[in-house]
Amino acid sequence: MKNITVIGSGTMGNGIAHVFAQHNYQVSLVDVNEQALKKAIDTITKNLDRQLNKGAITEEIKQQTLANITTHTELSSGAAHADLVVEAATENLTIKLDIFKQLDAIAPAGCILASNTSSISITKIASVTKRPELVIGMHFMNPVPVMKLVEVINGYATSKETTDKILSLSKAIGKIPAASNDYPGFIANRILMPMINEAIISLHEGVGGVEEIDTVMKLGMAHPMGPLQLADFIGLDVCLAILKVLHDGFGNPKYAPCPLLVNMVTAGKLGAKSGEGFYTYTAGSKELIVAPQFKK
Ligand code: NAD
Repeated sequence: MKNITVIGSGTMGNGIAHVFAQHNYQVSLVDVNEQALKKAIDTITKNLDRQLNKGAITEEIKQQTLANITTHTELSSGAAHADLVVEAATENLTIKLDIFKQLDAIAPAGCILASNTSSISITKIASVTKRPELVIGMHFMNPVPVMKLVEVINGYATSKETTDKILSLSKAIGKIPAASNDYPGFIANRILMPMINEAIISLHEGVGGVEEIDTVMKLGMAHPMGPLQLADFIGLDVCLAILKVLHDGFGNPKYAPCPLLVNMVTAGKLGAKSGEGFYTYTAGSKELIVAPQFKK
């Protein structure tokens, strides 16, 4: 594999492009939004500068990484020569199915089509293509250049050859893959989201305050971040969407999203990206301040 197409240049897409380009793959980064592409190249440049300042890479590697990336607003030009496509567009079923239908027509025969989806069924995505054996999940973690894990998700029809290629490729870009089968939430979110939901239920029922809940999990369980802070970082809307996938997929009430989470999302309190969730966020400040709603 030499030519990698990354679709969607947001939070995840720019990180995925960065990692492949730094390992000398030719990356075509595609987004419908020209501004998002410009922002992605700025972000990649800033992140490379950070690596350079830490002595982790040389100026030559920085320049080579940037030279390995081209940007495109059309799928037709971006995916025509791909050996692998990694789709990291908005988490929306209609958008993803539409992209995969188009990709099936545009990408060369034999090209593997991967999705970075957090929760949408790989089997469902594969079903709109004529190559379901070549469709797979490649679930990177945020921030991609830093986090080692890639969850590799086998759809119902994914071939062993495809899985083996993606496991090897993940190692070739310095990641550690873990294979999962295609059931709601895969492994990562099936375990993480019920924990986050339980933390919110504990807050809602008054078992503990925001700081107490996060402190118990940080100091007691050695988690680097408490579950409420992590929920803010992921985005409360994203957490709610994944819990709904688990609840709908398994039909088990234990996955029902906490009413407090539903209310916060409805009120536009989405966590770090909206400036307020369980904590408040001010640009440039790293101080954790409990949101007024949850102050004692
Ligand atoms: P984002 O909103 O930051 O970026 C999505 C990008 O996709 C946007 O730039 C948008 O313009 C683009 N896009 C939308 N429709 C498109 C189309 N038809 N063709 C090309 N580009 C299109 O989203 P994100 O947080 O980077 O998430 C992307 C994917 O990664 C989602 O499936 C999400 O579930 C998954 N994911 C996110 C995280 C996370 O922490 N943010 C972690 C793991 C996986």
